[in-house]
Amino acid sequence: MATKFVLIGSGLAGGLLAAYLGRRGYNVDLYERRADPREGNLVGGRSINLALSTRGIHALEQIGIADEVLRHAIPMRGRMIHPAGAGAHTIFAPYDVDPTKHINSIGRAALNTTVIEAAQRYPNVRVHFNHKCAGVDIDSAMAHLLNPPSPGYGVAGTSSSQPLNNASPARTSTTQPITASGDAVIGVDGAFSAVRQSMQLKIDNFEYDESYLAHGYKELTIPPGPDGSWRMEKNALHIWPRKSFMMIALPNPDGSFTCTLFWEFEGPRSFATTKTDDDVRRFFEEEFPDAVPLMPNLLDDFKNNPTGSLVTIRCAPWFYRDKVCLIGDAAHAVVPFYGQGMNAAFEDCVVLDECLAAFPQDRQRAFAEYFQRRKENADALADLALENFIEMRDKTASRTFRAKKKLDHFLEAALPRVYLPLYTMVTFTRIPYARAARRARFQDGAIYAGLIAIAALLIGILLWFTG
Ligand SMILES: Cc1cc2nc3c(=O)[nH]c(=O)nc-3n(C[C@H](O)[C@H](O)[C@H](O)COP(=O)(O)OP(=O)(O)OC[C@H]3O[C@@H](n4cnc5c(N)ncnc54)[C@H](O)[C@@H]3O)c2cc1C
Repeated sequence: MATKFVLIGSGLAGGLLAAYLGRRGYNVDLYERRADPREGNLVGGRSINLALSTRGIHALEQIGIADEVLRHAIPMRGRMIHPAGAGAHTIFAPYDVDPTKHINSIGRAALNTTVIEAAQRYPNVRVHFNHKCAGVDIDSAMAHLLNPPSPGYGVAGTSSSQPLNNASPARTSTTQPITASGDAVIGVDGAFSAVRQSMQLKIDNFEYDESYLAHGYKELTIPPGPDGSWRMEKNALHIWPRKSFMMIALPNPDGSFTCTLFWEFEGPRSFATTKTDDDVRRFFEEEFPDAVPLMPNLLDDFKNNPTGSLVTIRCAPWFYRDKVCLIGDAAHAVVPFYGQGMNAAFEDCVVLDECLAAFPQDRQRAFAEYFQRRKENADALADLALENFIEMRDKTASRTFRAKKKLDHFLEAALPRVYLPLYTMVTFTRIPYARAARRARFQDGAIYAGLIAIAALLIGILLWFTG
């Protein structure tokens, strides 16, 4: 009988991984605590749109859905910087020396639906919404689930809403505890993973570290113009860098932009102290004067939209024997400033699929190999994402930073295949994150050494002629 995987969480990586496993002929039962996104439920608490780039596109291509996803994407060719001060002109900074290179703004809900539907094309994959995992018995690969009664109960989009194996949900008026067992459980249940928590309880010396930024985030909207058009440059990621905080905006296909304000939770000027409509209006008029006229719903959005927190999670190991494995944010949540969390989670799916193919008879070896290939890279990405927050909120506004970017692009053009800027390696290649970070450090060292040598030479020549 084919191996059976129980997957917990059908967010972005859960649906995609189910498709990969389904394609390999495994039996897959995917349990998601939320209702079916196709029933119009918002993916609450996470960003509305995201930047999809090369690593994520590659993972979607392998399963044949990249074109479908990219059809709804808006290319963003660079950063549009909105400097501080009324009347300041925006500055466009391309992402790469090659003007065709771009990242893609895509809607989270639509992408979530596409990956789930890709998984459901395989008859051996069943998706169960409204099933919350309460914990996993990691020795027996058995998930404990709660199935609250809901009008949206069932397995949407498939005919397989029946109980599976020893899963026995019944339509009752109270929450039904059930179990689902397989040969292995895979936790694709995000940053606050219940599967990971079960591993933490059971595995001696399980390493776990979570660290929160002092900043939270709030999403706001710039609606479309009266004719449905975009009210700012459409093909750019807009940034209002303000040193200790920033706002960004990504375009949506309906002509709107989703803005995200990243701001301190506490402090003299912060989410905590900005409560009244007057406070909010004053803050936005001082800091983002060009955006305010485009945000007619600012006060309502600010009041009603939640303030999210930003966490980095590192843990080890990501697997337990041949029974449990972690993927995506469950294994390595990162802050969103490199636009790579989802891209990395999709890359995990590709790597795990390769490892399962390499060791079809030895799942523990496959899990171990996957962990070994990904851990160093996830740690490197976590560091890069934290560093990029400082770059985005502070350095993008400075002339020196923009000069360095121009030098990067000049060297990339002058030394093709030899010099690659860090952003290019992370975003437009599949060079492992850790190797990209090491190579960028080496390149920066070489540039600075070169600049010092040139300066020393010039001083020497000057002294020669004057002395
Ligand atoms: C503000 C913000 C902006 C971002 N922008 C980008 C970007 O531009 N580009 C990018 O690549 N990444 C971005 N990310 C990161 C990206 O959102 C995550 O890395 C990505 O969603 C991870 O996918 P995942 O499937 O691992 O987890 P998730 O997408 O979080 O999915 C987890 C799923 O598990 C379900 N679940 C959770 N607990 C349980 C349970 N107990 N039982 C059953 N189901 C459960 C959840 O309901 C959810 O559906 C951003 C993140 C934030 C917060």
